[in-house]
Amino acid sequence: MVSRRTLLGAGAVAGLAPMSGLRAQVPPKIERHVTLGKTGLRVSEIGFGSSSLQDAKLVRHALDRGVTFFDCAESYRFGWAEEAMGEGLKGVRDKVILTSKTKASASDTAKDMMAALEGSLRRMQTDYLDIYYNHAVNHIDRMRNDAWAEFTETAVRQGKIRFRGMSGHGSRLAACLDYAIDNDLVDVILCAYNFGKDPDLYDKLKHTFHFVAIQSDLPPVLDKARRKNIGVIAMKTLMGARLNDMRAFEQPDRTYAQSALRWVLSSPRVDAALISMTSFDRIDEYVAASGQVDQVGADTQLLGRYLALQSGKYCQPGCNHCEAACPQQVDIAEVLRARMYDVDYRNKALAIEDYAKLSNPAQACLTCTHQACRNACPMGVPIPDFTLDAQRRLG
Ligand code: SF4
Ligand code: SF4
Repeated sequence: MVSRRTLLGAGAVAGLAPMSGLRAQVPPKIERHVTLGKTGLRVSEIGFGSSSLQDAKLVRHALDRGVTFFDCAESYRFGWAEEAMGEGLKGVRDKVILTSKTKASASDTAKDMMAALEGSLRRMQTDYLDIYYNHAVNHIDRMRNDAWAEFTETAVRQGKIRFRGMSGHGSRLAACLDYAIDNDLVDVILCAYNFGKDPDLYDKLKHTFHFVAIQSDLPPVLDKARRKNIGVIAMKTLMGARLNDMRAFEQPDRTYAQSALRWVLSSPRVDAALISMTSFDRIDEYVAASGQVDQVGADTQLLGRYLALQSGKYCQPGCNHCEAACPQQVDIAEVLRARMYDVDYRNKALAIEDYAKLSNPAQACLTCTHQACRNACPMGVPIPDFTLDAQRRLG
C-alpha cells in the first residue's frame, strides 16, 4: 500500500507540475533559501518550529530534508524541547541557523536575562545562538526595559548571540513590534501572520463570506520592518492547524498546509515561515511546499474552504477589536488564544501554561449575563461561549 508519506513526498518533488514516475520516488527537499534582512543569515524558507518537540529524530529527519533553520524557546516543554533540539543537532550545529527565546519581563535585570540565555545554551549544547528573542511580547513595557538592550549588547559582544529579535502573537502585537522597530531593539521579528489576514483573499471569496477581514494593524508595521531591512519570519501560518478536518478536500499534490505555507511565503512582507514539525509525515508535507511561491494562485479554493471551516470559530492573532467589550476587563483575545492551543492544537499543557499567566482570565464569565460581548466580534466569534469554555477547560 502506498503510504500518505510516500504520496506527499511524490507530490512534493513534483510540486504541482507534471512529473516522471522516477522523480516521484524522490523524497521532498527544501528548494529555496532566503536571507533574513540585514542579518545576512541564510535559512531554508521553511523552518522547524519546536513547541512540542520531544524526539530528536524529528530534527534529524528535517535536516535530511534540507531544513537549515531551527527555532526553540526555553519555555517549550519546560526546557525539554531545547534538550531534544541540542541532541538532534549534535555534530551539525555550525551548518544550521539556531534560535531560542526567553520571556524577559519588564522588571528582569540584564543578569536575569543572561542566566536564561546560558540555560538555553547549556540545554542546546551550543556556545552561541544565531538569534535570541524576547518571547511572546504583548506589553510594550517588556521592550521598554533598558535591561533588554543592555543584555543583548553584552551577549553579542561576548559572542553568545549574533542577533536580537522579538516574537509575538498577542492582541497588542502590532504596537509592541512598532515600538521595537522604532527604537532599533531588534534585527529580526517573528510574528503571527497568515492568509486569514488577507483582505484580497476575502474579496476573491466574497460569495462565500458576508464579512470582510478585520483591517489588521500588522501589515503597515511589517512594511516598516521591511524599510529598515529587519528580517521577518511568520508563524501561526496554518490559522489554527485543523489539518485533519481538511484532509477530505485535499489532493495528493496539494494539501491545505502546503497552500497556507505558499501563501505566507509568497507575501512580500515575509522572508521565511516557521511551522511546528510534529511527525515525519508532516515534515515531508511541509517541506514539499518549498520553492512553489509562483503556484499560490491555485490555492484559493482550499484556503477559502478552510476559512469557511474556521468562520466564526477562529480568533485572529494580533486582532484586539473586541478589547473594550467586556465591562469586567476580561482579556478576550488572550483567553481565546489559550483556548485555541487546547481545542485546535490539542496541546493542553501549553494551553494551561498560557492561561495561568493571564492577568485577566475569564473567571468573570462564570457569573456574567454574557450580553456585553455577545456581538463584539465582526468575524462572528461567539465570544461568551468561548471565554466560558476556556475558563472551564483551563481555569
Ligand atoms: S474575538 Fe474577534 S474581535 Fe475579538 S480579538 Fe478575536 S477576532 Fe478580534
Ligand atoms: S461573558 Fe461577560 S465577563 Fe465574559 S467576556 Fe463577555 S462580558 Fe466579559
